[in-house]
Amino acid sequence: MIFSNLTALVDCNSFYASCERVFRPSLAKKPVLVLSNNDGCVIARTQEVKDLGIGMGVPFFKVKDLVAKHHVHVFSSNYALYGDMSRRVMRTLQTFTPEIEVYSIDEAFLHFSGFEKWDLHAHATHIRSKVLQYTGIPTSVGLAPTKVLAKVANHLAKKQSVYQGVCVLDTVEKIGQALAYFPIEDLWGIGRNLSFTLGQHGIATAKQLCDLPEHYVRKLCGVQGQRLVKELKGVACFGFEKNHKAKKQIISTRSFGQRVYALEDLQEAIASHISNACEKLRKQNHACRYLYVFIRTGKHAKHGQYYGSDVLTFDPSTLSTHKMLKAAHQAVKRIYKKGYAYKKCGVHLSELVSSHQIQKNFFTPEDSNKDQRLMMIMDQINQKQGRSTLKFAACGTHDINWSMKSNQRSPCYTTRWSELLKVG
Ligand SMILES: [Mg+2]
Repeated sequence: MIFSNLTALVDCNSFYASCERVFRPSLAKKPVLVLSNNDGCVIARTQEVKDLGIGMGVPFFKVKDLVAKHHVHVFSSNYALYGDMSRRVMRTLQTFTPEIEVYSIDEAFLHFSGFEKWDLHAHATHIRSKVLQYTGIPTSVGLAPTKVLAKVANHLAKKQSVYQGVCVLDTVEKIGQALAYFPIEDLWGIGRNLSFTLGQHGIATAKQLCDLPEHYVRKLCGVQGQRLVKELKGVACFGFEKNHKAKKQIISTRSFGQRVYALEDLQEAIASHISNACEKLRKQNHACRYLYVFIRTGKHAKHGQYYGSDVLTFDPSTLSTHKMLKAAHQAVKRIYKKGYAYKKCGVHLSELVSSHQIQKNFFTPEDSNKDQRLMMIMDQINQKQGRSTLKFAACGTHDINWSMKSNQRSPCYTTRWSELLKVG
């Protein structure tokens, strides 16, 4: 039996180390490793480094001697570079199928439905060579009927040189052969604990796991494990998620840490919400038509309750923070009433359209090129250097006294590089 609807997993080889090599071609065959933040641990290794027996995640000081002896080239991590290289790789992959799911910084699932008549092995080889040509990053490609099997195929493509970087598991026989020797701990979604438990029951390979009766799998591995086994049998259970689903509206709102009375403070708070919302707007390549602004007191405010709001219309739609700040500044002035203790404020952006499809209007100018360039540069700098490195003066320059109390805030593990979880 031949499976026709295949999913590919494209994974960059030694991604961070490969990125460094792109800009230092002389390191092509040399051992290269990349260290985590603060140069703590080894987080990326080229094959030459793996061959030296330097493990993933080991503290750098433990391998310093080995590194010196074998002239290993060591880099501190440069996430701005890796993020950018990742975008280039993904952009290249997008040209090969409309259905792509970016799974991590260096991996993406590509779904090939409607490609039944294609020689997908040849196509995958082509994709690999194009990514290498356009970005300089080597990849491995695994093709199979389900995501879990695509992971298995990818693993084989990477580890076994006979595949030359592309492994296709499209028949029951090929899948059976692949799973017969595939260690359980290398399966996607099987953690160390589970593989230990399974090991105690004498299950060491993916094939053995597949052969277990269903109720037994459920007892040992739970519902998720049951789905995983189905996937190993070629039945897709893990759906295909088109990521970055564009939001229909963007909302930024927050309660103040303490009551706010002054107009200027409210204007600054609104400006800050607009900056956040606009950054998100541009990230999903949209422009907006309506900006809704509100300020309000608490529901049980001692000196009376008040809710003020206004809707600002942009025609043509805009993605410029600058334009919205200007309009909102006046709006807050209009809706502000003196003497109230304000508790909350916020903005909604709605009627979002793709920034490439902005309806032009003869009477009002669209965002100028200069404005668009400025926004792009601001976003890029803030993305690299952390939020609010660059901001409009309207958002306030003093230490924000209106923002939320955040003494208990946990680190921004995923949005601030400086606050990434440190291991070791
Ligand atoms: Mg990788």
